[in-house]
Amino acid sequence: MKKNSSLLKCISCGKEYRFSEIRFTCTCGSLLDVVHNLEELKKSFSLSRKFFEERQFKINGQPAGGVWRFKELVLPEIAEEKIISKQEGNTRLYRSKKISQWLSVENLFLKHEGENPTGSFKDRGMTVAVTQAKTLNVKAVTCASTGNTSASLAAYASEAEMAGLVLIPKGNVAVGKISQALAYGAKTLVVNGDFDVCMELVRNAQEKLNAYPLNSINPFRLEGQKTIIWETLMQLGWKVPDWFVFPGGNLGNTSAFGKALREFQQLGFIDRMPRFAVIQARGASPFYEAFKNGFENLIPQKAETIATAIRIGNPANYSKAVRSLQWTNGIVESVSDEEILEAKAHVDSAGIGAEPSSCATVAGIRKLVENGTLKYNETVVGILTGNILKDPQIIVDYHLKNHHALANPLVEIEASLDALRNILELQE
Ligand SMILES: *Cc1c(COP(=O)(O)O)cnc(C)c1O
Ligand SMILES: [Zn+2]
Repeated sequence: MKKNSSLLKCISCGKEYRFSEIRFTCTCGSLLDVVHNLEELKKSFSLSRKFFEERQFKINGQPAGGVWRFKELVLPEIAEEKIISKQEGNTRLYRSKKISQWLSVENLFLKHEGENPTGSFKDRGMTVAVTQAKTLNVKAVTCASTGNTSASLAAYASEAEMAGLVLIPKGNVAVGKISQALAYGAKTLVVNGDFDVCMELVRNAQEKLNAYPLNSINPFRLEGQKTIIWETLMQLGWKVPDWFVFPGGNLGNTSAFGKALREFQQLGFIDRMPRFAVIQARGASPFYEAFKNGFENLIPQKAETIATAIRIGNPANYSKAVRSLQWTNGIVESVSDEEILEAKAHVDSAGIGAEPSSCATVAGIRKLVENGTLKYNETVVGILTGNILKDPQIIVDYHLKNHHALANPLVEIEASLDALRNILELQE
């Protein structure tokens, strides 16, 4: 093996596997990490913060985007022409006076991953995992999905000219997402069962039918999602924030973000760790419950929440996520659907907007400020994971149906200037 060679390594027993082996769990049953030889990579590419900041890297003549900027720490050995990319990443880091005020957090930044090519952070993982799938010459890629993974898989499978197969639980998938999977041309299968049932099918299909899974148990997905953290640090001028706050469903981001920080610490690019606050919806909060019992055990739940992207009762990346919380002295909080909807109304009316699961982040920040965990003068980065247009139905229902406090209902008027004048006067 070359010195630089990356490999797959069990997070529990440490058993190592070849990088090109198609395998997602160890013989002992635990999850696998992609492990890079950081010291060697740092030396052979002279890696530094400046190296990544100033990089002008192109793929097929186009700027490489926010994932492949970090190629050496994602898939170091891949040939450029093999990369399947849509210039994902390079998402905005918003500041908003309105939201800051509502939350009582002065130094608030919102990283909007809904601005990726298919409207969610899933694209960051998908570009890497589909690139890997292509080099492995697999015929079909598959996933179980609450929506965004299937939208992303469909788009990248199309680009890579691979068959895409997505399994969607019956009911409870937002219309924006399912329409993307159909439109991009993936074979879209509605399964009579919940997400966790779909996930089990995907695992079996890998072993028995040789279909390559692109769920976040695929460690290459997580390699791409690491760049959310690295890019944010770069945008903050390498100043490590006090907190990263983000939603937790299957806990892929929780796992990837911890690995990202750990690797940057090992490379000497940061000198302290931020803290993580993972937010779950109350009706889908097995990680929150496990946190409260000191991570003694995970008890799977029957998940129910309006935030469909985090409607997951048995998170696949649990053990990696626990490790991330240990590395970051992290915490887990849970919020109700009402709190998510209220936070969403604030995020939306600030002109930023995000889908419900993303707004669990903001609802969580509010709760953590109220209970004194987050302080006014701390720097807080909230991750908005998905686009506002993913779930239009919930917006329409909120504003037109249920008489919520922040509702902005439609107003019908006569076709006259007088009617308009009356409305304008009411605005003053
Ligand atoms: C997938 C997804 C999540 C959940 O992320 P995990 O990494 O599975 O915890 C949250 N929000 C959105 C919009 C998603 O698409
Ligand atoms: Zn093992």
